[in-house]
Amino acid sequence: MKHVPVLDLSYEINELKPQLMEAFAQVLDSGAFIMGPNVKTFEKEVAKYLNTKHAIALNSGTDALLIGLLAANIGPGDEVITTPFTFFATAEAISQVGATPVFVDVDERTYNMDLTQLEAAITPRTKAIIPVHLFGHSVDMGFLMELAQKHQIHVIEDTAQGFGAEYQGQKAGTIGDIGCFSFFPTKNLGAYGDGGLLVTNHDEIALKASMLRVHGSKKKYYNEMIGYNSRLDEIQAAVLRIKLPYIDKWNDGRVAASHVYKELLDGIDGLILPAEENYAKHVFHQYTVRITNGKRDELQAKLEEAGISTMVYYPTPVHQLPVYRSMGISMPKAEQLAAEVLSLPIWPQITREIQEYVSSKLIEFM
Ligand SMILES: *Cc1c(COP(=O)(O)O)cnc(C)c1O
Repeated sequence: MKHVPVLDLSYEINELKPQLMEAFAQVLDSGAFIMGPNVKTFEKEVAKYLNTKHAIALNSGTDALLIGLLAANIGPGDEVITTPFTFFATAEAISQVGATPVFVDVDERTYNMDLTQLEAAITPRTKAIIPVHLFGHSVDMGFLMELAQKHQIHVIEDTAQGFGAEYQGQKAGTIGDIGCFSFFPTKNLGAYGDGGLLVTNHDEIALKASMLRVHGSKKKYYNEMIGYNSRLDEIQAAVLRIKLPYIDKWNDGRVAASHVYKELLDGIDGLILPAEENYAKHVFHQYTVRITNGKRDELQAKLEEAGISTMVYYPTPVHQLPVYRSMGISMPKAEQLAAEVLSLPIWPQITREIQEYVSSKLIEFM
């Protein structure tokens, strides 16, 4: 077996190459590179897919979080609750606007924020919660929204890993006040460069976010607030327009691959497979197992030697990263997961043969 990467984009690129080359040529010929027809049409198409009123294309998922927080008027003195088991950008955006991240430990089954601990973290200064639909598994949004409404707190969903994921049949990212998506190339809907998206059903939030995207202006050269340059470019929008119609098929491919792993790996001692709660439609952005025998790093090294790449998302929980370490807090579940998790190779077109090889080596080295 040749080397098995964690993610292989060559299948989709080969399939889409004629369409991609044609779209690239069209953008080049049009001379419209920024905020042209592809961005506008993509925003309409993605809003329809997600069933949301407003979709604002941005230049990254990080900017979607940052602009989302600002559009919700969150700033210095405010607290924003989030999970310590996520990519750094979730907490970074909170600090970036001058607010304070408040971490709530995670549930070891879903790897998402443990909502039973959420209410205890709410203070009079809490202005927002950022739940993260980690690895493509939705947070229990019904429970979370009830609490948020009771305390009148904004909910900003970090859906960077869950394009097309669902909570009770509703698309993740469209349940809170704001949803933030990333189109980083390795995400389950990825561009071939940076990209992001903010969605909302609130007109005022949409207006403010669209102004923040272009230097705080509605009208060119008439700036009403301090903003950013955070536009999605035409080439990336054209790529995303080509890829969007495939996303359900690709997410189904990931789900099918998760079933194969479950069939091949269920019941192995020291190995816990990812859970899927009844309320969630998991899209398996990652297929992340737990190695509970204390030998995760050793196993990962042996797999690499056998030509199988895996990833550890995330080796250090956010509250223990150098920038936040001085908070001096402990989050036992997040710390435990950071030592146990291992993300196995997964992509929509992964073959059973590859999964059999990965599984047999994993079992052999356990
Ligand atoms: C990727 C990611 C982001 C950041 O998105 P970028 O497009 O890379 O800026 C934020 N949150 C989570 C959970 C992510 O996985």
